[in-house]
Amino acid sequence: MAREEIKGLPIYSPGMDIEEVKRTYGVQRVIKLASNENPCGPSPKAIKAIIDAVSQVNLYPDGSCFELRKSLSEKLNIASECLVFGNGADEIIDFLFYAFFRPSERVIMGEPTFSSFFLSGMMMGAKVIFVPLVDFRHPVEEIVKAVDEKTRAIFIGSPHNPTGTICSEDEFKYLLKRIPDDVLLVWDEAYGEYVEDPSYPDAIPYLSEYPNLVILRTFSKIYGLAGLRIGYGIASPQVVEYIERVRPPFNVNRLAQVAALAALEDEEHVRRSKKTNSEGRRFLASELNRLGFEVVPSQANFILFRYDHLLENLTERLLERGIIVRDGVPLGCPGFIRLTVGKSEENVAVISAIEDILRGRGCQ
Ligand SMILES: *Cc1c(COP(=O)(O)O)cnc(C)c1O
Repeated sequence: MAREEIKGLPIYSPGMDIEEVKRTYGVQRVIKLASNENPCGPSPKAIKAIIDAVSQVNLYPDGSCFELRKSLSEKLNIASECLVFGNGADEIIDFLFYAFFRPSERVIMGEPTFSSFFLSGMMMGAKVIFVPLVDFRHPVEEIVKAVDEKTRAIFIGSPHNPTGTICSEDEFKYLLKRIPDDVLLVWDEAYGEYVEDPSYPDAIPYLSEYPNLVILRTFSKIYGLAGLRIGYGIASPQVVEYIERVRPPFNVNRLAQVAALAALEDEEHVRRSKKTNSEGRRFLASELNRLGFEVVPSQANFILFRYDHLLENLTERLLERGIIVRDGVPLGCPGFIRLTVGKSEENVAVISAIEDILRGRGCQ
């Protein structure tokens, strides 16, 4: 009975959770650095907002996200018609395929890339064209060359998942200038708040000249609300209007809306989260380099590094020690690990566990 498009789809597997690791490996303490969650937790202001709103969960949420929309449009200095909210940025990716793709139309993306980009596309019968990354970065000239009449969108993460690399402003402009105006450039900034590289563009001002630009953002990463599922898109009013037609009426729940509003206003928590990440990212990159791993320079809250030239089964060895990381195999990077930057003590623990494993293998 299932549609052909569905039959080829894998079931998404997020890896082991904390309780499962405790049960399976008999460890007391588990450190999870696998899903790019904020190690500082949610903002205390968001927690309070959730508690204050919890007695109203008998009521449907505001389908228009009025308060959050107002606050975000002021903060970003954009018209409120340029915003669309989703049950995670993941849902906006689905909406883009619902609204703009006919079966067999094409979507271009890097390889490897964030799995939602191609899974959502395949689900809707889009043909996915993968352009291999070069040195873990998007080769923008190759991407432009891959565009043809059947192409409806290009999906790019910047910072990209799973590599942590960005596209510079020059590369971003190159894409916008060269692609036809009936091709969407979906510019995923889920990790944008963590970037320190000055060549990273501020994408919003480009919306007025390029109505085919769609920017994706989320409250799951630096805002620490992954469990509530809320993200948003920023696009021209024309594009947003079509997305609104495919959006379910109450897709963003009440607690997510109040928490996101409070988190947005807690600039101190965002600053603290960014500082924790910057310090941790620097520490992990230099320690992994010191131990002889090949480290991809990251602008995100995770680090991709190669281990298979030094060790086998590092992901499992770490699990035995109660440390959950994301193995590269399901991410399209066999032999690599994607390690989320944790709190300082977590980062120290993962490095000392890796050193321990290396010693055990007679590598040091
Ligand atoms: C985490 C992530 C998102 C955001 O996902 P949510 O659905 O908002 O939790 C979007 N894009 C990329 C590349 C991500 O890694």
